[in-house]
Amino acid sequence: MPIRRVVALSLILSLLSLPVLGQNGNTDLLARIRKEAMEHSQIMKTMHMLTDVYGPRLTGSPNHKNAAEWAIKQMTAWGLENGHLEPWDFGHPGWLNERLSAHIVSPVKDPLVCEALAWTPGTKGTVTAKAVQVILPERPSQDQLNIFFSGQKSRVKGKIVLVGKQTIVPVNLNPPAKRTSDEQAQQRFGPNARPFAFPTPSPTPTPDPNAPKPLTNAQIAEQLDLFLRDNGAVVRVNDAGREFRQIRAFNNRTFDVDKAVPTVVMSNEDFGRITRILADGTEVALEFNIVNKVYPEGTTSYNTVAEIPGSDKADQVIMLGGHLDSWHAATGATDNAIGCAIMMEAARILKTLGVKPRRTIRVALWSGEEEGLLGSIAYVKEHFGSFEAPKPGYEKFGGYFNIDSGTGRVRGAGVFGPPEGASIMREILAPFKDDGVVGAVASRSRALGGSDNTSFSQAGLPGIGMGQDPIEYNSNTWHTNLDTYERILEDDVKKNAMVVAWSAYQLATADTLLPRFSNSDMPARPPETAAAQPSTPKAKPAPKKVPISRRRGRR
Ligand SMILES: [Zn+2]
Repeated sequence: MPIRRVVALSLILSLLSLPVLGQNGNTDLLARIRKEAMEHSQIMKTMHMLTDVYGPRLTGSPNHKNAAEWAIKQMTAWGLENGHLEPWDFGHPGWLNERLSAHIVSPVKDPLVCEALAWTPGTKGTVTAKAVQVILPERPSQDQLNIFFSGQKSRVKGKIVLVGKQTIVPVNLNPPAKRTSDEQAQQRFGPNARPFAFPTPSPTPTPDPNAPKPLTNAQIAEQLDLFLRDNGAVVRVNDAGREFRQIRAFNNRTFDVDKAVPTVVMSNEDFGRITRILADGTEVALEFNIVNKVYPEGTTSYNTVAEIPGSDKADQVIMLGGHLDSWHAATGATDNAIGCAIMMEAARILKTLGVKPRRTIRVALWSGEEEGLLGSIAYVKEHFGSFEAPKPGYEKFGGYFNIDSGTGRVRGAGVFGPPEGASIMREILAPFKDDGVVGAVASRSRALGGSDNTSFSQAGLPGIGMGQDPIEYNSNTWHTNLDTYERILEDDVKKNAMVVAWSAYQLATADTLLPRFSNSDMPARPPETAAAQPSTPKAKPAPKKVPISRRRGRR
């Protein structure tokens, strides 16, 4: 074959094999996005502000609002428009722990590692008292609990009360892998991904119909707090139940400082030491000074919103987001300042490159996620409604990208909708094969849980959850006192911003919106379940994507 014909033929072939999205000068755009993301990144500066300067960002706290206002200012400075805080009704005051010191003062003197439980009161100065341990009966009925409490009244008066036995945390000889292997990523997001199945709950034993009905954990917790308050306990101490002095401190379930005594979650090692000294029959004295503040104005919280307006389809919206609120034991870096920083950065990249998306690209940084996805649920309800009760914005919504699994690089996406939607996402993500991105899988689940993308999928809208390498998320940083700036892998998160910037732009520029389920194929909305409270001090790490009814904490 003459050389010229070979060249012509191979040119035709290469044109034919170009992905649809490779046309329109998109290949060049991809290179520009990559360069901007990797060489001019602002992510670590954003992370510094959100964590070091404004963290922790508990919903309703002034820290959260200050972080939100800074984010609006920063996004506006990058050229995003319509930046504003969008109020929603949290219904609880804000709360902040400003100071906490904890010491064993007898029979030895040593500092103790503790975190305050959110929405509990402070100590009104330094308090010193003897420690007692109170071990509740297992699964008590109301009668059994009443009898137990009446026997404990005189024990707890004027005392610092350690609640429960120490959790024995075995030495872990098999630490989990930090990266998902390529094989695992393929199984989860590849073309032949195994359909996602929720873990089957272990069968509950059939209760003896004549036995008294055991109370729920929530009922026991609430009654125990009132018992301690009404009988003059000075401080309540919970066991963190985790290794290496890790602490996850959540909240008093009532969100009401008047319904509890000052409460801390103590490192498992300190809790164990005190337990063992008490078991020797030796008296132990502890000293605490806890300053907690309540902010009544926190009953209104805010989602943080800014956008790049579209052109000919500006009324259609593609959204990207993460939750800006955090727990309070650390500065909430991997959960989830990083999700916010990545989405802000993705928008910054697109704005800096001066691309003109046809649809509006909107960044939303939620609050109230940790208390039950509250901010994103309120936003979806207000702007889009749901499949069952649509608002005008419902039909014009094109997809919501969510990042909330820590610092690891993105390995794939879960897309709520019919298989055709996941196929489009798979094609969009194809250029990132060498960066470890494997593909996309379709999801039919409208169960609420995991993270804010499920507020969209519950409404029947295309929520897109990005799956990531675990790194240290489930093992060390998720909801713990170790969740700080230092835990961020800069190279991974820069790449994540690149992947999201590209993907959001593709959805914002395609001829049509992501396909939805037809009316007849839309999965039924699962029955409302009472949002689980993330307050149990010994909450175990929940597996990914477990519905809220079975979870004790949000992502
Ligand atoms: Zn989270």
